[in-house]
Amino acid sequence: MPSEPPTPPREPTGPPRSPLPEHGRPADEILAELERLTAADLPVRGGQVTAYVYDTGRAEIHDLASRAYLEMLEVNGLDPTAFPSIVALERQVLDAVAGRLGGGTGIFTSGGTESIMLAVKAARDTAAAAGGGDAAAGRPEIVVPNTAHPAFHKAAHYLGMDVVTVPADAATFRADPAATAAAMTPRTVLVVASAPSYPHGVIDPVADIASLAAEAGVMCHVDACVGGWMLPWLRESGRDVPPFDLSVPGVTSLSCDLHKYGYAPKGASVVLFRDERVRRRAYFASAEWPGYTVINSTVQSSKSAGPLGAAWATMMAIGAQGYRDLAAGAMRAAERLVAGVAGIPGLRVLGTPDAPLVAVASDDPALDVFVLADEARARGWFFQPQLSYQGIPANVHFTLTGVSLAGVEALLETLAESAKAARDAGPPDVPAELTDALSSLDLDALDDEGFAGLLGSVGVGLGSGGQPEMAVVNAILNALPPATREELLVRFLSALYSGHV
Ligand SMILES: *Cc1c(COP(=O)(O)O)cnc(C)c1O
Repeated sequence: MPSEPPTPPREPTGPPRSPLPEHGRPADEILAELERLTAADLPVRGGQVTAYVYDTGRAEIHDLASRAYLEMLEVNGLDPTAFPSIVALERQVLDAVAGRLGGGTGIFTSGGTESIMLAVKAARDTAAAAGGGDAAAGRPEIVVPNTAHPAFHKAAHYLGMDVVTVPADAATFRADPAATAAAMTPRTVLVVASAPSYPHGVIDPVADIASLAAEAGVMCHVDACVGGWMLPWLRESGRDVPPFDLSVPGVTSLSCDLHKYGYAPKGASVVLFRDERVRRRAYFASAEWPGYTVINSTVQSSKSAGPLGAAWATMMAIGAQGYRDLAAGAMRAAERLVAGVAGIPGLRVLGTPDAPLVAVASDDPALDVFVLADEARARGWFFQPQLSYQGIPANVHFTLTGVSLAGVEALLETLAESAKAARDAGPPDVPAELTDALSSLDLDALDDEGFAGLLGSVGVGLGSGGQPEMAVVNAILNALPPATREELLVRFLSALYSGHV
C-alpha cells in the first residue's frame, strides 16, 4: 500500500522576492540604485553619528584607504604562499601594533569579535594541552567583568565554554580584582580585563587582574579593541595612562581594532600573543579532505585582502604624529562633552572616562534617555542607546573621534535641546501587562510575520518620518531580563530580514 505522500514544505511566506535579472543591468543603473539605497543610511562622515563610525576629519586619508582597498580587493587571503603581498603587509601592520603595545606576535583579523574568538580558542587549547581548565570538572570557563564586550559570550558560545560574569565596581564601573579572584575555579582558562570597556570608557585594573591570573597559572586577555590604538597616543601626548598592554606581567594576549581608532575601513583588527606557541593554538589546519591543504590563521578562510591593504595604507598615511593629534583631539572633545553635560539639568556622565567614550545617563525620571536619543535623531544626530544592566542605568553612549572636536559645541547644543524635548514629551508608556506578556510569550509558536504583527499591535513600527520610534522598542527591552531581550532581538532580526518589519 502506498504510504501517504509527505506534507509539502510550507510555501515561503513574506513579501515578493526580487529575482536575479535575466540579463545584466547597465553599470550606471546599478550604481544609481546603490546610491538610492544608501541615502537612508546614517552618514559615515561628519561627526553627527557618535558611534559605529570613526572619522579622522581628513577626507584624503579615507580616499587613500578606498584606493588601497580596491587595489587588494581580489587578492585572496586564503593562501599566503600564492599571494606573498599579504604576508608582507600583515607583518608591517603587526610590527607597528606590537611596537606600541608591549610586543608579542600577532594575527590580523576581520574585527574585534574575531580577535577575541581567536584569543579564547588559543587559551582553551593551551590549557587543554597543559591539562588545565580541568576538563574532568566540566566545560572550560572564562571570567569576565560584566562590562566586557559580548564577543566573549559569543566566543564561549561558539567554542563550547562557559562565561562567569563578575560585577564591576558600582561607582567607577571598573572591574573588581578581588571579586575576579573569587570567581576563578579549576575550570578557568582565561581572565579578561578591558582597556577601556566600551560602555563607559574606563580602564580596568589590568595589572592587578593580570597578576592574580598569573598567580593562579591562568591566561589573561586585555580587550583593547577600542582603546588599543588610542591609549598609546594619549600617553605619548603626555597624559597619564596606566599600564595595560603586553608589557604588564601576566597579560598573555591583547586585541586592538584598527577599524576603530586606527581609522581603517571595517574588517581590520589585531590579536597579539605574548608567546608564539599560544599564537599557534589560534591557528587551524586540516588535511582531512582530498582538496587543497587548509591552513588558516583566522576563522575566515577565503577572504579579501582589501581590509588589510586599506588598514596598512591608513596607518602609513597617518603616522605616529598623526595618531597623536587625532587622539588628543578626540580626548579634548570628550572632556568638553563631560564638562558640558554637567551644565545640562537632569544629565550626568557615568564614571570618569579614560578614553573618548562617554556614557550619559538621566537622573530625572521624567527625562528618558531613549526619548532623548530619538529627539537627537530627529535633529540629524545619532546617539547610541545603552540598556540598563545589572544595576547600571540606561544611558546614551558617545564615541568621540578625530572629527568630533570641531563639532562638539553643536553636539552639546543638540544634547541640551533633546534633553529638554525629552522631558517635555515624558517617558514612553510601557504597560506592565505588555512586558509580562512578552516575558511569558511562547515565541516559538509565532512565525516572523506573526511576530511582526505583534510588534505592530504594541506600537512598534515606523514613525511618521519613516524612522523607527526606537524609544518604545528600547523602553520595552529595558524592562525585560537579558535572556528575554536576546530572544526578542533574534526574532526582530529574523522578521527584519524576511521583510516583515
Ligand atoms: C568594538 C569592540 C569589540 C568588538 O569588536 P567588533 O570589531 O565589533 O567585532 C570588542 N571589545 C570592545 C571593547 C569593543 O569596543
